[in-house]
Amino acid sequence: MINYDSVIMNKSNGKVIVVFILLYGLISGIFSLLSQALQLFITPAVILLVTSVFLLLLVEIYFRSKRFKEIKKSIEFHINECNELNEYILKLKEGEIWRGSQFVGQAFLSDTSRNNFQRSYWSQIDNVNDTINCSLSICRNAKSDPIKYISKYFNIIPTEENLVHFENILNKFESAETGRKLLVEQQHKLISGISSKIPQLIFKFWNKRLKEELGFSFVEMKDIHFQKFTFQYVSSGGNSSAKCVVILDIDNLNNLVIYLNDRINFRKSIKGQRALITSYLRLQIKERDNFTCKICRNSVSIEPNLLLEIDHIVPVSKGGLSSLDNLQTLCWRCNRSKGSKMI
Ligand SMILES: [Zn+2]
Repeated sequence: MINYDSVIMNKSNGKVIVVFILLYGLISGIFSLLSQALQLFITPAVILLVTSVFLLLLVEIYFRSKRFKEIKKSIEFHINECNELNEYILKLKEGEIWRGSQFVGQAFLSDTSRNNFQRSYWSQIDNVNDTINCSLSICRNAKSDPIKYISKYFNIIPTEENLVHFENILNKFESAETGRKLLVEQQHKLISGISSKIPQLIFKFWNKRLKEELGFSFVEMKDIHFQKFTFQYVSSGGNSSAKCVVILDIDNLNNLVIYLNDRINFRKSIKGQRALITSYLRLQIKERDNFTCKICRNSVSIEPNLLLEIDHIVPVSKGGLSSLDNLQTLCWRCNRSKGSKMI
């Protein structure tokens, strides 16, 4: 991966300081002439302020300049591609949420005890779907065995249907994560490619603005929806409390898929064995297919930051199995167009 910081750091900060000092010197020179002519006393703070305003003005002029527009146009195609991938990742992130218990109505609980217990913590209890109130020992056990406990207390029953549900989420989220990393690399590559054409002052101090002006849109990965399950304990007096939060991230999703599969096999509820779509299998299939898209033949050796995905040749909805011969590697573009054709 390109280290973007090193690209920035390699550019000498000296030039930036020299520009500022020259600008300051120029403006203070003009002001000293003015102050002599008009018999005014101008403080250095005023000169500094005017210099800063002048600098900001120069930045605005630069971003509107023909030169900048030309640079932008030269990489426009790649920026649009990045933004398309960005949009695709955003869609992947819209994973389905697990709803363990059915909605059976709404009720409000308030503490009407007359005793003056310290029950303030009760008011903070979330009565949302992803939180359960439980004993302290369950809280502690959930920490040491999170997958077993979320499966048990959030009603994730080991069925083939639920297994497919979580395999799909894992598949989507992992693509989104990988896609984001590749996208960031691609953006850095593009920007460092034009860095010699951009004034260092802008490159260093207006870097975020530069990306915006170039037209990049960004995936905020902190927004990725990894579902959270909370085990919450509050003592009856409200004096002691504990919380155990299990985040269903990529690692935990892998563990959950394996856990559910083990339970299903144990119960012998499905006869036909099939491949389990975990991160490991995804990598195996990509390796088998030489990291090459089966439709357009694009590969990571042609396009290093290409997002590759795993696709069911015959979709699950049409009876396709998650068997090795029904799984293939597709690039995100082909996978996207295949998906839209199906719909
Ligand atoms: Zn392709």
